[in-house]
Amino acid sequence: MPLDILALAAHRDDVEQTCGGTLLKMAERGYRTGILDLTQGEMGTRGTAEDRAREAAEAARILKASWRHALDIPDGRVENTWENRLKVVRVLREQRPRVLILPYWEGRHPDHYTASVLGYEAAFISGLAKLAVSHQPSASSDPGADSASPHRPFKIIYASLYRDVRPTFVVDITEQFEARMASLMAYKSQFTDQQAGSGIFPAQKEIRARIESMARFYGMMGGVTYAEPFVQKEVGLVEDVMAIPVKSI
Ligand SMILES: [Zn+2]
Repeated sequence: MPLDILALAAHRDDVEQTCGGTLLKMAERGYRTGILDLTQGEMGTRGTAEDRAREAAEAARILKASWRHALDIPDGRVENTWENRLKVVRVLREQRPRVLILPYWEGRHPDHYTASVLGYEAAFISGLAKLAVSHQPSASSDPGADSASPHRPFKIIYASLYRDVRPTFVVDITEQFEARMASLMAYKSQFTDQQAGSGIFPAQKEIRARIESMARFYGMMGGVTYAEPFVQKEVGLVEDVMAIPVKSI
């Protein structure tokens, strides 16, 4: 069964921070959602890659994601190479999402903006009929799927929460906010108060306050309590001007 929506990000917990509420909301509407983490988190100050794998699985369960996989791209060294693009192409052809959520294409962390360009270029070449890639199915793939045939997502949207940029739309996650927070807190090795990295990691109470203010800020833009911000490069198409949401004055 193909995925409806796939969220791609550099690090385990990026999706939880930037678009986890949206993924959960879509899953609750009956769509099949998935998460592709490019790296496994071996460079993190806190915890090991194995800790993070366990925590990522728990977070995916909370977000009701149907599929999650981490590639083996080195943490802190996400590069937009041909080889890495092919790794993403394999996933796109196997999981066949209609909507692809990428990180915003500018940012502080090089892994984040590189993941954005890498994801976009992989989505493009994934649709090329003459590009053949050897099939290396991921752990939870369906062996019956026609996974090698070309596939390009219909829509790409960019999760822009890490970047101070005006979103083109926000998704109301008021109902999903607490679960999204729980999915982030599933990364116990990262977010519980502890000695390691206490100079660079804020305390858990502070993290919660920051996440809540961001969600409130974007919620206010959309006239709801909590929301997550996105950018799309295309214009919005309107069928009925009477049904356009978000009050003007
Ligand atoms: Zn990250």
